[in-house]
Amino acid sequence: MDDAGPRLLTQSAELRERALKRTPGGVHSNVRLSGSRDFIRCARGAWLYSVDGHDYVDYLLGQGPNFLGHAPQPIVDAVFAACRDGIIFGGQHELEVRAAELVCDAVGWPDMIRFSMTGTEAVQAALRLARAATGRTKIIRFEGHYHGWLDNVLISQRDGKWGAASAGQLTSHLDDSVILPWNDATAVAEALERHEIAAVIMEPIMINAGVIEPLPGYLDAIRELTRQHSSVLIFDEVISGFRLGLGGGAARYGVTPDLVTYGKAIAGGFPVAALAGNAELMSRFGTGEVNHAGTFNSSVMATAAVTATLTSLLEDPPYDRITQHGNALMAGLREISAAHNVPLRIVGLPQAFHVAFGDADVTDYRSLQQLDLARYEQLSRVLVEHGIWVAGRGVWYVSASHGERELEVALTRFDKALTDWVA
Ligand code: PLP
Repeated sequence: MDDAGPRLLTQSAELRERALKRTPGGVHSNVRLSGSRDFIRCARGAWLYSVDGHDYVDYLLGQGPNFLGHAPQPIVDAVFAACRDGIIFGGQHELEVRAAELVCDAVGWPDMIRFSMTGTEAVQAALRLARAATGRTKIIRFEGHYHGWLDNVLISQRDGKWGAASAGQLTSHLDDSVILPWNDATAVAEALERHEIAAVIMEPIMINAGVIEPLPGYLDAIRELTRQHSSVLIFDEVISGFRLGLGGGAARYGVTPDLVTYGKAIAGGFPVAALAGNAELMSRFGTGEVNHAGTFNSSVMATAAVTATLTSLLEDPPYDRITQHGNALMAGLREISAAHNVPLRIVGLPQAFHVAFGDADVTDYRSLQQLDLARYEQLSRVLVEHGIWVAGRGVWYVSASHGERELEVALTRFDKALTDWVA
């Protein structure tokens, strides 16, 4: 990155002007409305390169999917090679069998799997399946957990109340949701007594808001309670799946759900998600009792990407390398911020951690609000200007392609960013 003066975004500005004419907000996902104004020319490994000649060490990773780094050669090669012989058949093919076997075997406990394109869809399939299996409609879900952008799962907090997050959203679609604070097993126990609950859905580690881990015994308690009440336990591992290890959060915390959703890290950057679970539940799709469909589900591209990604994770597990980088990065960021007297709180796992201003005992979304999240959002813009690509909401992702060089560059740039920030 050039260190000469302010970062120019001339070509990005031109592209943005064109984009704004044809695309609302100039973006195709509202999550990107608050992101950087740079346009990206290309990406390799842990690096993004902009059309204006700037480079960035990437700790956003496309919101998570680039777990193996950008454009991982074996995955891209496998997908391109497979697609030469057709992309979508409207019929079955061997790669989808292989991909299903690989995922189920790698994770260990699920008997069966269905692929979809997005995490949002996988969650919808899980909820429908749970409702069909239990004959109940209500679900328990949690403050701060994200399960996609559709009407029945998208929530935000306004004036202390949780509800619809978007204009045009059918609020009635949230009528069957019991929204509880997370990490509070008593609240779940009471709700299970009061309502007939089809499913309890949660991120087993709340990465979307604050990268908050479950308290010791919490997941076990929820597992026990859902068994007692014959409710389906769904872990939404769209972020944590394959990132925390092959078994995701379920393996890390030693608790097996009935259903699990995957996405992001499962396919080396390609658009793939999945719902997996035990045969008793999943086979309801196979009899036709429960509908689950999608023109592009289990395309050659998707299943080649999953197969190559799983093969790579099994043959050359990146987890130790990622842990090393993530720990060194967190330690470096802490040291530098302390040296600048910038009160940053850096917590979480080496694969995904959270950065914010302040200090508090954070166990759920409510206590997360004690931190100064808005101030970090301002700092995140300064970090991007200094060549570190991060999201405003404070989550940093580490990939298999972050190494020594990236660490050195990231910390040097962080130091410079804080020097300018405090000046
Ligand atoms: N579930 C979780 C935990 C997520 O983090 C996300 C997306 O970030 C989704 C579901 C929705 O996935 P997608 O954006 O692929 O629809």
